Amino acid sequence: MQGKIIKGIAGFYYVHTPNTHIYECKAKGIFRKNNKKPMVGDNVLIEVLDEENHKGNVVEILERSNELIRPAVANIDAAMIIFAITKPLPNFNLLDRFLIMMDKQNIPCVICFNKCDIATMEEREKLAGIYAACGYQVLFTSAKTGEGIEQLRLILKEKTTSVAGPSGVGKSSLINCLQQNVAMEIGDISVKNERGKHTTRHTELIAIDENSYIMDTPGFSSFSVTDMEKEEVKEYYHEFTQYEPYCKFKGCSHIHEKHCGVKDALNAEEISEIRYHNYEVIYEDCKNKRRY
Ligand code: GDP
Ligand code: ZN
Repeated sequence: MQGKIIKGIAGFYYVHTPNTHIYECKAKGIFRKNNKKPMVGDNVLIEVLDEENHKGNVVEILERSNELIRPAVANIDAAMIIFAITKPLPNFNLLDRFLIMMDKQNIPCVICFNKCDIATMEEREKLAGIYAACGYQVLFTSAKTGEGIEQLRLILKEKTTSVAGPSGVGKSSLINCLQQNVAMEIGDISVKNERGKHTTRHTELIAIDENSYIMDTPGFSSFSVTDMEKEEVKEYYHEFTQYEPYCKFKGCSHIHEKHCGVKDALNAEEISEIRYHNYEVIYEDCKNKRRY
């Protein structure tokens, strides 16, 4: 039977299968055989040893599409970052750092702005304008009224999505909304109850239907992107690209050079001031190797 490892604790792997059972498995022999240790997110084949008590053995790890190191997880298809439109206001620098981190790992990223019930249409349009222009999918939700939740469900469907966001934005509330339709028969291991707010110590996937999973990523505010060279930062500002041919100097950093196409676009309000400002800050951080 095929399933997905949603949690690993002390040598046990918890494997979620499409029949919505969770099997507690050991991985006898696999590690020795091909020198590969199972990870959360792995798609695996299991042999069921005890159907009644949902116990089994991982017999094969299927090929991984990717492998993240921090947190250690395999087969992440997408990332989602959640901010509130207001209360608290988004931290745009944190948002950009997250987008860069995911971009570096070739993971497509969706931006979700929650609490749209307490925001104005102008606030929404401003945010959508900035980030849609850089090619990101932007979604507005309200965990309170349910607005956007079905769209969110569709975006997450049949994927494993890593979900991050600073505290207070409504991440737990959204995850609860998503879990409401899940009628999981999960024996002794209640994913929902064990997940406990802000106590996630292990990397763990949460099944939101038979083959859609989210990973709640804690410790989000410490993301650092300073492990890259300052010259690399502009590569993650995709909206700069079309203006770069107008820079006088090859390899223009768009910071202090004269005759810079990017700064011209900024002055013409074709590039967002917020984005450009973040670029400057991140560029400086990388120059000085400042760590968060
Ligand atoms: P987390 O820290 O990101 O997990 O945020 P919580 O889910 O604990 O929510 C933080 C606060 O925001 C709580 O008081 C929630 O009731 C409130 N909240 C969450 N989602 C919404 C929303 O969509 N609209 C409004 N108005 N409040 C929300
Ligand atoms: Zn330039």
